[in-house]
Amino acid sequence: MGAVTLSNVSKSFGAVKVIRDVSIEIAEGEFCVLIGPSGSGKSTLLRIIAGLEEATQGNVFIAENDVTDLPAKERDIAMVFQSYALYPQMSVRENMNFALRLARRPKAEIEAKVQEVAVMLGLEELLDRLPKELSGGQRQRVAMGRAIVRNPSVFLFDEPLSNLDAKLRSQVRGEIRDLHQRWKTTSIYVTHDQVEAMTMGEKIVVLRDGRVEQVGSPLELYDFPESLFVAGFIGSPA
Ligand code: ADP
Ligand code: MG
Repeated sequence: MGAVTLSNVSKSFGAVKVIRDVSIEIAEGEFCVLIGPSGSGKSTLLRIIAGLEEATQGNVFIAENDVTDLPAKERDIAMVFQSYALYPQMSVRENMNFALRLARRPKAEIEAKVQEVAVMLGLEELLDRLPKELSGGQRQRVAMGRAIVRNPSVFLFDEPLSNLDAKLRSQVRGEIRDLHQRWKTTSIYVTHDQVEAMTMGEKIVVLRDGRVEQVGSPLELYDFPESLFVAGFIGSPA
């Protein structure tokens, strides 16, 4: 069993089925990219893994534990969204240490951890600023920092770069990759961008209308797309 395992997961909103019998296994330390067109169910699937949305059917396992009925805050997971979702009235430091304060970690430990991560992400000069005093790229970095300080066993990213301009996008993409190189935290990264998927993914899961269309390494998908859909989306030209 993987670090994150989905077993026959389905999800309906009312009568509309948006996730259809999805089974995926993500290995410990793996960087998995979930790609698919808009509306294919990427965010919903990520939210089900995070515990922010309940599956209608099926099970979610994290580190071999069935967490299907476990609330989000009890899952050892941190999520980075496209809209940074920072607390506007809190400083960068407070945004970053919020989860640790909630968990009642010792003060010295919290300060050391926030300092370490701030240095790593180039945020140490900005710790006393408010989110509104930051650029988009800096805010995105705070959102990542806030996830990193919690030291989760799984990172979930939902199109974290989509609000950034092209230059910043490639920079932050590099930072996420470096982060993964350094800690090898199991990561699931949602994007609809083929280039992002091919350059970042160790494993790529292609979603189409709530179903898994194909799973493989970037090279496998590129060289051996199993459908015209995958070929058109990320495969080599036929
Ligand atoms: P993606 O992230 O791939 O763009 P989503 O997971 O956001 O796709 O959405 C998948 C489908 O589920 C879409 O058709 C969307 O309209 C629908 N959907 C998502 N969230 C809800 C909700 N809370 N209520 C009803 N429909 C939803
Ligand atoms: Mg989405």
